[in-house]
Amino acid sequence: MIYPIVKYGQEVLERPSEPVTVFDGNLEKLVADMFETLCAANGVGLAAPQIGIAKKLCVIDITSGEDPKAKLVLANPAIVATEGKQVLEEGCLSLPDFRAKTTRPLRATVRAQDLHGKEITLTGEGLLARAFCHETDHLNGVLFIQHLSLLKRDSIKRKVRRMMKAGEW
Ligand SMILES: [Zn+2]
Repeated sequence: MIYPIVKYGQEVLERPSEPVTVFDGNLEKLVADMFETLCAANGVGLAAPQIGIAKKLCVIDITSGEDPKAKLVLANPAIVATEGKQVLEEGCLSLPDFRAKTTRPLRATVRAQDLHGKEITLTGEGLLARAFCHETDHLNGVLFIQHLSLLKRDSIKRKVRRMMKAGEW
């Protein structure tokens, strides 16, 4: 099932989500739906609050559906180590059509649980590191625009408000 994606402005995107505590068939179904939604949206990552579910759960696939082995499920993720930095354009499915140069670590290590509740530690570089940070942020109620300058962030917020008023958001 493909979920509609919650856009910036909904409060579920700006508050911390609740930890995942039950690893059962319902969670498996939710994760399958999240991958389907991610693939349909041509995205690299999707966090549960982006489909209106305030749970610390995200899915990542930096190959956008090309490689089934690239699919990652992170429950209750936390970034535990970072190294270096990269400045590249970043976007978010909840802020469609807005992209901005965003500074992220070049390498990031995330500790999380997998679909079955098993503890995992993964280190990613480049786009994967960016995805780990972006999605973990989502679960803490943080959007990528928080990492931009106040000026840039306000400009995006103003444009979104204008689109909301015009009924285009
Ligand atoms: Zn996002």
